[in-house]
Amino acid sequence: MSKVWILGHGQLGSMLKHAAMPLAVEAIPVDIDSEQLPELAADDLVTAERELWPDTPVTQALANHPNFLNLHVFGRLADRYTQKQLLDDLGLATSPWLLVDDTVSADDVYSKLGERALMKRRTGGYDGRGQYWLKQAEGTQIPDDWRNEAIVEKGIAFDEEMAIVGVRDREGKKFFYPLTLTLQLGGVLTASVAPLPRLKPLQAKAEEMLGKLLDGLDYVGVMAMECFRVGDELIVNELAPRVHNTAHWTQAGASVSQFESHMRAVAGVPLAQPQVKGLNVMINLLGTPRDERWWAISGAEPYWYGKEVREGRKVGHITFTHSGDKRLIQGLDELKLLLPERYGRVIDWVEDALAGG
Ligand code: ATP
Ligand code: MG
Repeated sequence: MSKVWILGHGQLGSMLKHAAMPLAVEAIPVDIDSEQLPELAADDLVTAERELWPDTPVTQALANHPNFLNLHVFGRLADRYTQKQLLDDLGLATSPWLLVDDTVSADDVYSKLGERALMKRRTGGYDGRGQYWLKQAEGTQIPDDWRNEAIVEKGIAFDEEMAIVGVRDREGKKFFYPLTLTLQLGGVLTASVAPLPRLKPLQAKAEEMLGKLLDGLDYVGVMAMECFRVGDELIVNELAPRVHNTAHWTQAGASVSQFESHMRAVAGVPLAQPQVKGLNVMINLLGTPRDERWWAISGAEPYWYGKEVREGRKVGHITFTHSGDKRLIQGLDELKLLLPERYGRVIDWVEDALAGG
């Protein structure tokens, strides 16, 4: 039985472990702050559930193992500066950007990128944290503590946001999941819907873009690409070299989930084209206390992470998969009554997305 160590022990690690079991692959999420070092054997494999990690005895031990897949990719994508350079090098459309160094002024930014620009910390930002808007109309300046720490990119007036997840094996064989429409509120993924027939014309383009990245990096495993749609164009927002929240619906809605695809690629088990079982919806549970009644909703598949509930924290998600959308809407309407009021607009967004095809 092959053994795969996973750097990190959050919910993504747990879901990877869960998905590896039927493959007869032992996946072991590792707490990076543990004082106990993993007992690594020479033919074990190493992957990660996060793109950035501090130097600890555990992360050093894992990173020194010769079978840490994609090791060189993590640092490159975890730094938005080198990630943007990579996108430019591969000729992939992304929001025009500049490095925020000592010399650039807010006026330079407005003249080069337009009147609305978004500074993003080079590393460590997530869920909308580590971002700062520069708005010419308000005369926003660049605070000193953002210099040499950030990039700045043009504010994109996008029509909507979506993401694609793909997987590649050691021989370069690739499979992709359908484009997933996403709702980001305050920079946090809140809901997603896939597959939508009206997004089908964009699928080939999205696969080509992510495929270029996977091949260009000689990547093995699952990678996610978040995009903005502007008219018929896709613009890459950001990349994640790991399993991703936008494809959690694949647990219920695809013959091979993104977690299983990643573990297959890492452990060298053959990949297969994921068959999508129906129309899929995922709702993220953000700072929401666990409610047993969720499990009684027909068609609902709640997944609880077992974490302490704190405001805004991702503590679980609920997916629905249906062959037709009528029962799906019934389930969503039931769920709406059980979630805090702020979810009203989230469920409405999902139902609108379904109605729009
Ligand atoms: P994640 O948690 O997915 O890693 P993040 O906080 O690291 O996200 P981004 O995905 O870059 O950061 O940005 C979060 C959200 O901010 C996006 O989903 C989008 O809604 C908005 N956003 C980001 N970049 C731009 C842009 N250039 N123009 C307009 N809106 C943007
Ligand atoms: Mg993002």
